[in-house]
Amino acid sequence: MKNETEILKRFENALMKTISKVEGSEVTLSITADTIKEFKEIIELSEHLKVCDICGKEFISKRNDSKYCSNNCAAKAYKRRLETKRPIQNEYNKTSQFYRMRIKRAKTKTEKDKLERKFEKYKINYQKKKEQHSNEKLSKEEFIDWIIKQKR
Ligand SMILES: [Zn+2]
Repeated sequence: MKNETEILKRFENALMKTISKVEGSEVTLSITADTIKEFKEIIELSEHLKVCDICGKEFISKRNDSKYCSNNCAAKAYKRRLETKRPIQNEYNKTSQFYRMRIKRAKTKTEKDKLERKFEKYKINYQKKKEQHSNEKLSKEEFIDWIIKQKR
């Protein structure tokens, strides 16, 4: 914890600067506007000290919600999120394509209407499953399995 050690060192230095006189067991402190400013800065730094979700490096975040030390790590995290989403998106597209094709090939209006209703229901249920998946109530495998099964 490099940054943490530095912050503690800075805190110690700031504290030492407030001591103006030591006589026996008597310690006189002098707090100035400058020391207060320094303490404020130290508190702010320690509050923003974070560990990067990707590389594990310590960093001082400027924003409260930042999880990554750099744009590079944020990009890596974004790519990872995309990679886990892609197979789901692919299956969703395949099943949607399957419905569109069957609707196009329907011989009667009744058949076409029935398929359109089924397709709409699929899209609504997909959104529900997607929510379950993002709440970790449905695994990626189960989600993909469900999508594939909708092709009937
Ligand atoms: Zn990082």
